[in-house]
Amino acid sequence: MARPFIRALFPGSFDPITNGHLDVIHRSLNLFDELIVGVGNSPLKNPLFTLSERVELIAELITDMPNVRVQSYDCLTTEYAAGIGATVILRGLRNLTDVQYEFQLAMTNRAVAGIETVFVMTCEQYGFTSSALIREIAALGGDVSNLIPQCVYKKLREKLKMSGKYPADKLD
Ligand code: ADP
Repeated sequence: MARPFIRALFPGSFDPITNGHLDVIHRSLNLFDELIVGVGNSPLKNPLFTLSERVELIAELITDMPNVRVQSYDCLTTEYAAGIGATVILRGLRNLTDVQYEFQLAMTNRAVAGIETVFVMTCEQYGFTSSALIREIAALGGDVSNLIPQCVYKKLREKLKMSGKYPADKLD
């Protein structure tokens, strides 16, 4: 019997996408037939990048991945997954702290929507990388260039300069 087509959803804030997120995407390329990177609106998280900026950055980074697409959504993750026909949620794990939170989220999603979550562990190199830390370090003038893709780094600097959050002595 032919195996069913498997579409997975990788949901997140991606504010902005980091090398850690990209590593999870690369590692899952052969696990599913199609991967949709779903950028959640998450207004309560007060994102630095707009929804369309976050989507555009990801789109730029997946151009050479034919079975990966990016979309934004503004509803419950499980509702969105059902709407696009995704039968699996993909999430990344960095450390044991992630496991605790992600375990709870995955159990809840399974209980309310019957959807399974697949976890992929990031490469050790990005085990401490988070979008929040990157925003914070960059806002204080720290060098985060080896933790995020080049296009994201450029956009992050532009964004922080525009917002006046980038220290004057670190400006080019
Ligand atoms: P959310 O607000 O949904 O947690 P994030 O963009 O912070 O959105 O994270 C999306 C997913 O990517 C989560 O599963 C998170 O654990 C995972 N993730 C974030 N950073 C990394 C990283 N450096 N390595 C692996 N997975 C990561």
